[in-house]
Amino acid sequence: MKRDENCIFCKIVAGDIPASIVYEDGNVIAFADIGQVTKGHTLLIPKDHQPNVYELQEDTASQLFRVVPNIANAIKKEFNPAGLNLVNNNGEAASQSVFHYHLHFIPRYGTEDGFQ
Ligand code: 5GP
Ligand code: ZN
Repeated sequence: MKRDENCIFCKIVAGDIPASIVYEDGNVIAFADIGQVTKGHTLLIPKDHQPNVYELQEDTASQLFRVVPNIANAIKKEFNPAGLNLVNNNGEAASQSVFHYHLHFIPRYGTEDGFQ
């Protein structure tokens, strides 16, 4: 398992900094985004340090995407959003700020409760 000593997500994987973990297996981990763009905003990452989609290994992509429906359904069940965006930023120009591959799950509630 590759680890970057300066990477905040590698520190979460190692348990060196706390996170609100919603799913974990041998290869991937999902946890609440500290920024919470909307209620239930969740990140899914490989445990291995792979910086972006260009360097994401195929077996890692399989391990990660096979749990996507489970996590989406868990978010749907817990937060009952009107919709759900899955987003992955690659490169600073695309708003990537943590250079360890991650998939955002951003629940959408419409405008009635203040979330967009
Ligand atoms: P990016 O902009 O790279 O696509 O997304 C990085 C995300 O990581 C941001 O939404 C940010 O809120 C989240 N984040 C950054 N540092 C931490 C942290 O220490 N803990 C958690 N849970 N999320 C973090
Ligand atoms: Zn990392």
